[in-house]
Amino acid sequence: MPEDPPIRIFLSPPDVGPQERALLLDAFDSNWIAPLGPHVDAFEREIAAHVGASHAVALSSGTAALHLALRIAGVTVGDRVLCASMTFVATANPILHLGAEPVFVDARASDTDWNLDVDLVEEELDRAAAAGEPPYAALIAVDLYGACADYDRLEPLCNAHGVPLIEDAAEALGSVHRGRHAGTFGDLGVFSFNGNKIITTSGGGMLVTEDAEVADRARFLATQARDPAPHYEHSEAGFNYRLSNLLAAVGRGQLGTLEDKIARRRAIRATYRERLGHLPGVRFAPEPEHADSRDNAWLTCLTIDPEVARADREQVRLHLRTKGIEARPVWKPMHLQPLFSGARVLGGAVSARLFDHGLCLPSGSSLTDHELDEICTEVAGLLAG
Ligand SMILES: *Cc1c(COP(=O)(O)O)cnc(C)c1O
Repeated sequence: MPEDPPIRIFLSPPDVGPQERALLLDAFDSNWIAPLGPHVDAFEREIAAHVGASHAVALSSGTAALHLALRIAGVTVGDRVLCASMTFVATANPILHLGAEPVFVDARASDTDWNLDVDLVEEELDRAAAAGEPPYAALIAVDLYGACADYDRLEPLCNAHGVPLIEDAAEALGSVHRGRHAGTFGDLGVFSFNGNKIITTSGGGMLVTEDAEVADRARFLATQARDPAPHYEHSEAGFNYRLSNLLAAVGRGQLGTLEDKIARRRAIRATYRERLGHLPGVRFAPEPEHADSRDNAWLTCLTIDPEVARADREQVRLHLRTKGIEARPVWKPMHLQPLFSGARVLGGAVSARLFDHGLCLPSGSSLTDHELDEICTEVAGLLAG
């Protein structure tokens, strides 16, 4: 077997421009190299304004934001936390770091929406309440590949059961659900600016909340939980989780082009649909239906039904790889990970099937029309009946 060539076309590479460079140099030249500084404050204000939130706290990663969100929600040793199974492991790791126990929730039927199944959540919350069990300490919903979970039902349900709702919007910056921005649902919202996300600071995250006290508490915990005193005084264990001023400068430049990046990713998805949507066995991940909703199309994902299609997901992925094109299987559900082999799961078959047949295609906003055409030609060449 000849070795694959180096990857030329990446799944979701960073897309940075001159504005990011100018802001980064401004931060550098101003000597605000220490973490925190004017770009951090400005980046927080600008993200909050963009999504219509009252407060945003810039952090070193989306994972750090999730860890703080769970901690602020009061999750502690021995607690149970409901969590979408269909996600990246960073959603679930902080549950373990706090000594709590994840209970995973399957995805909804694959032709309606790939996010967590609210019927399963409702049944479980009702069952636990009827059995007199201690309430769940939190629920983490994930906006998978940029599509918002069903907050019309999740928000009232979590309120009724007194369960803090955390929105992992790491992949969904700029998505809108029923007129509200991703990240603003539930009690706490989380964004990531990792290198593969729709905008990036190379590494970074943000916690979003309506509650000023929660924002203050997040800033306190993220800076080693230093009590007010002229010397260093500590009465609880904190973290070193704040975003660097240099990286916040890059984030500000990126945010300025977020709408262009969303438009490009949506156009890429529209082309994939047009060129591949008619092929036997191919189905694209559902898009939000309501007029007052739109997703950011972070990654274009589809499923390939091997009973109908001329090639299966792996054949398509490996064929693209021989051409230097990077495609990836969709996230492997948490309940199928060795790390969580002992964890409870509600349902599980839907996300398992999505994993077996699901593929993410190159979706970066810097993808050229020529590259897009090449990918479509390669995939159609394998799958055309
Ligand atoms: C990327 C991602 C995270 C983690 O964000 P980092 O900034 O990489 O720590 C969390 N959840 C989901 C769903 C993600 O895609």
